[in-house]
Amino acid sequence: MADKFDVIVIGAGPGGYVAAIKAAQLGLKTACVEMWTDEGGKPVLGGTCLNVGCIPSKALLEISHKYEEAKHGFAEQGIQVSDVSVDIAKMMERKGTIVKNLTGGIASLFKANGVTPIHGRGRLLSGKQVEVTDNDGKVEVYQAENVIIATGSRPIEIPPTPLKDDVIVDSEGALSFSEVPKRLGVIGAGVIGLELGSVWARLGSEVVVLEALESFLPGVDQQIAKEALKHFKKQGLDIRLKSRVTASEVKRGVVKVTYDDGKGEQELKCDKLIVAVGRAPYTANLLAADAGVNMDERGFIFVDDNCQTDAPGVYAIGDVVRGPMLAHKASEEGVMVAERIAGHKAQVNYDCIPNVIYTHPEVAWVGKTEEALKAEGEEYKVGTFPFSANGRAMAANAPIGMVKIIADAETDRILGVHIIGPQASELVAQAVIAMEFVSSAEDLALTVFAHPTLSESVHEAALAVDGNAIHIANRKRKK
Ligand code: FAD
Ligand code: AMP
Repeated sequence: MADKFDVIVIGAGPGGYVAAIKAAQLGLKTACVEMWTDEGGKPVLGGTCLNVGCIPSKALLEISHKYEEAKHGFAEQGIQVSDVSVDIAKMMERKGTIVKNLTGGIASLFKANGVTPIHGRGRLLSGKQVEVTDNDGKVEVYQAENVIIATGSRPIEIPPTPLKDDVIVDSEGALSFSEVPKRLGVIGAGVIGLELGSVWARLGSEVVVLEALESFLPGVDQQIAKEALKHFKKQGLDIRLKSRVTASEVKRGVVKVTYDDGKGEQELKCDKLIVAVGRAPYTANLLAADAGVNMDERGFIFVDDNCQTDAPGVYAIGDVVRGPMLAHKASEEGVMVAERIAGHKAQVNYDCIPNVIYTHPEVAWVGKTEEALKAEGEEYKVGTFPFSANGRAMAANAPIGMVKIIADAETDRILGVHIIGPQASELVAQAVIAMEFVSSAEDLALTVFAHPTLSESVHEAALAVDGNAIHIANRKRKK
């Protein structure tokens, strides 16, 4: 038997590496097992988020947005540029550098905090033992007082579109195309499909998104989703709802996709196809039969509100358990579990987790949608403010979208904030803080915001909740 640890974390994504650092900070002897290697076979920390998720996708979104602005947005602002072109190899190199710096940063943080990294595939045995098999097949067993499972998720594959070399790819493959595909198909109009579709559409691909559902972004407040769909279509994303993919065929490098749109079988030809139909918890070869950890009916590791599994002293966090598949949700669960292991009180406020779609305009929200409140029979009031009436948005050449604040009709407590527009991802943080402090719409309305800022739209939307907006005509004034 090898070393004994207070905490062994399996998985070094944003859930696992944050849990490990926090546990070590709290004085617990901590190890983190990770099996990821780079192309050269070197161990890499950071998980999906840093290697093939949040960070590389945002790098490509930022770069492609700049390219599109230079190509189409500069002239109307009086900036003349000619011969704007994109160098994909350079763009990918930059993305790679960002990823490398960040993943290397986690290794440094482990060192600084005294976390022991263990490279290999972890498997939980009974009695909180963790078996680790390294690349050479060498097996070592470690004993832990506590185990945190943070093994994340993997892209879902569907039978009609098996992945094929560089032609039918998942989200990971779509982050590494070596050239701009002329015709790009995307299956799934979820967050990942829309973000990756946007990247390549900005760079020049003709993009068709096939989505099985009839409604667009069903989890998003529908007033915002409708506005988003309008903008995405205007940008050239050909989003076909009610279009379920049933088959595909690759011939001479061209993908023929068959889909059913309710009226019959349709066909789409494209040069690359991205399958972005969701992600599934990753638990392959993870649990020995007598480990005592159970799954729910959807294959997620079953945990209570505090991420405790059915096995005492074994916790699970992040994408491998229920709840939204988001990096910051995984990290917060990691901190909570480390704190609880150290004997402190800690909880995650699942009602205040922000969501972002990093398209242009960005879509961001926290709390409840109007649809959810209606279904619950709640009485509420709504204030909206359009960025078209915001001076800073105009100056930034981005006067599109709106801020929408929903508050309890009686208590005025903010129940949900929904934003579509410039820097929505940053603006939503104000709403998260307000909701975390159980703020009323009036609290926000009474707060002073700097001028001219995009944030003034949050202020005005809060004022509008009670019909007190200054910079737009209030539709209905409350008595
Ligand atoms: P992961 O990040 O998946 O990490 C799990 C780690 O465990 C991996 O490194 C894996 O190798 C390791 N592992 C698995 N099994 C074992 C084992 N048996 N032994 C050892 N190691 C193991 N979220 C956001 O919040 N914002 C975004 O903008 C965003 N963009 C995204 C874009 C894309 C293209 C994708 C694919 C995802 C995106 N996400 C985003 C989701 C985000 O990446 C995940 O929610 C997050 O990474 C989950 O963290 P995690 O720690 O639970 O799992
Ligand atoms: P998300 O789970 O948010 O990543 O979104 C994935 C999307 O893919 C969902 O909206 C699904 O409805 C959609 N989807 C799943 N299977 C298919 C399919 N065969 N054809 C088209 N869309 C699909």
